[in-house]
Amino acid sequence: MSDLSDYRKITSLVKQHEKWFSESLPLIASENVASRGVREVLASDLGQRYAEGWPGERVYAGCRYIDQIELSAIDLAKRLFKAEFVDVRPVSGACANLAVYSALSEPNDSLMALSIPNGGHVSAGKKEFSGTAGLVHGLQIEYFAFDKANMNIDIDESKKKLRALHAEGSRLKMIMFGGSLLLFPQPVRELSEVALEIGAIPCYDAAHVAGLIAGGEFQDPLREGAHLMTFSTHKTLFGPQGGTIVAKAEYGEGIKKAVFPGTSSNHHLHNVAAKALTFAEFLKYGRAYAGDVVRNAFALAERLSELGEKVIGENIGYTKSHQIALDVTRYGDGGFVEKKLESMNIIANRQLLPGDLQAGRHYTNPGGVRLGVSELTRLGMKKNEMQEVADILHLALNSEKTSEVKRRVSRLRRSHQEVHYSFKTSAAYFYGQAGAKSVSSS
Ligand SMILES: *Cc1c(COP(=O)(O)O)cnc(C)c1O
Repeated sequence: MSDLSDYRKITSLVKQHEKWFSESLPLIASENVASRGVREVLASDLGQRYAEGWPGERVYAGCRYIDQIELSAIDLAKRLFKAEFVDVRPVSGACANLAVYSALSEPNDSLMALSIPNGGHVSAGKKEFSGTAGLVHGLQIEYFAFDKANMNIDIDESKKKLRALHAEGSRLKMIMFGGSLLLFPQPVRELSEVALEIGAIPCYDAAHVAGLIAGGEFQDPLREGAHLMTFSTHKTLFGPQGGTIVAKAEYGEGIKKAVFPGTSSNHHLHNVAAKALTFAEFLKYGRAYAGDVVRNAFALAERLSELGEKVIGENIGYTKSHQIALDVTRYGDGGFVEKKLESMNIIANRQLLPGDLQAGRHYTNPGGVRLGVSELTRLGMKKNEMQEVADILHLALNSEKTSEVKRRVSRLRRSHQEVHYSFKTSAAYFYGQAGAKSVSSS
């Protein structure tokens, strides 16, 4: 049994969520806010349809417009990423990786990626941790050597490791650059050559930094030697939750089959339309946006450091991306700090830092907190607001003044309720207003 009260309970929770976020500081580095136009196509009829396969070669009827939308999405992404082949069907970044691993590997192969404490992601993790890569063909995972002082892949040690693995007979098929804690561009150029020498394909997981890459503010993996790049469409690329694969033309046929039928049946057609709109927004506003994001991240890091906070990478310029990492061990650990900040309407997450495991810290109680400025930037915040964000964070970390922190957060947010870098400035929070009203109040 269920009645209207169950229904109302859910819609009310969604409204409460929107209200909470409208008066909070969203600092999760993997999140962003999409424009109203993008969010409206997510609510369109496309979300009820099937279109397995490739445009023009569908398994389902009714795809007259869907095919045109998907071909446009592909064309826009090709322009945005200067890519020969694009597949916009993966329903998330992890699913894009899953398709790439499936296409490029066989049983007994291995893959090299960053370990999680050094910034890696579960989708390139080992089988014993239920990592996506390990679950495909039992892929063995090797780790890049890491240079903690520079918060980056250690070029010489990683080269040695690649050559040693090859000499031992390891079947290393891919090296996967990128990561979840990704402060600086990685040595794609330096390592791709060695990878190819030993038969490993250089890939780049740009889940986090796709928007910065598209905006010309990070590195450009496909020009630096990567043959394939996967990404999420909702992190610095401010679109719907989803994934995409871009690659050199020669990988196209293999990827297409790995996506369908390999790792999905239907893909999410409303998301394909939303991705297309996002790519169009990014072709026009991406440069301005990405520039503001990296300037904001640096400004936030610099101010926090001035205030005495321990920002990772103090001697190397803190960050060149949308993220900064704080060492919060002086306050306890990242788990404690995450909860405290949330109680003060500051939404950020805990982060394993290099060296944490050796120090006996782990995923629930790591030494760090990761902050991202992509969403605040899209809400229109600039350098001045970053000063205030840093001051608020400092107060939150060093006091128990919950109501003062909340008041300052809500004051700062009052004038930042709209989505910018889009063809039309639009409200960031609109659920339950206008369109949705008739359902939830009937
Ligand atoms: C977020 C992330 C992913 C996964 O993306 P989803 O879209 O959440 O599936 C993959 N790789 C890296 C490095 C990430 O940070």
